Amino acid sequence: MNQPLLELQKLSLSYHTMEGEVAALSDITFSVHEGEFVAVVGPSGCGKSTILNLICGLLPIEKGDIYFRGERLAKGSPLNIGYMLQKDHLFEWRTVYKNILLGLEIRHMKTAEHLARADALIEQYGLSAFRDSRPSQLSGGMRQRAALIRTLVLDPDLMLLDEPFSALDYQTRLSVADDIGTILRSSGKTAVLVTHDISEAVSMADRVIVLTPRPARVQSIIPISLSLGDAPRTPMASRNAPDFKTYFNLIWKELHTDA
Ligand code: ADP
Ligand code: MG
Repeated sequence: MNQPLLELQKLSLSYHTMEGEVAALSDITFSVHEGEFVAVVGPSGCGKSTILNLICGLLPIEKGDIYFRGERLAKGSPLNIGYMLQKDHLFEWRTVYKNILLGLEIRHMKTAEHLARADALIEQYGLSAFRDSRPSQLSGGMRQRAALIRTLVLDPDLMLLDEPFSALDYQTRLSVADDIGTILRSSGKTAVLVTHDISEAVSMADRVIVLTPRPARVQSIIPISLSLGDAPRTPMASRNAPDFKTYFNLIWKELHTDA
């Protein structure tokens, strides 16, 4: 297989607190290929966000290595990363359009080319009617969509999603995950989603990395290959696949294996 886009090799990390050391990660190794959608599943507090923070350089690497396109990431990683969190961080004092342009403004990238790209994404992903609205006038799902477009405008090398749907109620979560998953697939972006929700992982990912409780180790890596027939690979279609439950049960068992 060709070189992975992202490789994590034997990453370990402890937090140093007043009370002592908290081991968060132990020997985390996995890779992500270009265009792939990888989900990382593990119980709350096991170290999922820590992994994303290491990838994006918010936390310094303590032990182990991260490679991007074969190059070892040193301090101050030069990666262009799109981060999606539980909170959409849209600013109420700006219109949806101005929110979408925020990243371009901060990076002094408001060129004709980038503005055209923003317009194309707004059009393509159905936000044209909300361009001049305030975030509070949008549904939770539309807000997440606007937040996603704001990061896609910057054409990130990699998308990191940290439990982005967990603040939404169950019904909304299903449709927003479907929406965001479909947009990410059509954009061809490589994505790493962390979640404690097994269904979300199986419905969205090409591969699922299962973590143990803290300190997180890789329990297993499970490729997802659902029988979808002619249906496009959307999260909603995946949930209806006959073998969805089989994957769900397999991952549930892996999560509850006493190591
Ligand atoms: P998850 O995202 O899987 O819920 P985290 O990666 O946020 O887990 O945290 C893993 C563990 O490390 C948790 O037990 C958490 O309490 C601890 N932790 C996270 N951040 C810090 C920090 N800045 N200082 C000390 N402990 C932390
Ligand atoms: Mg977390």
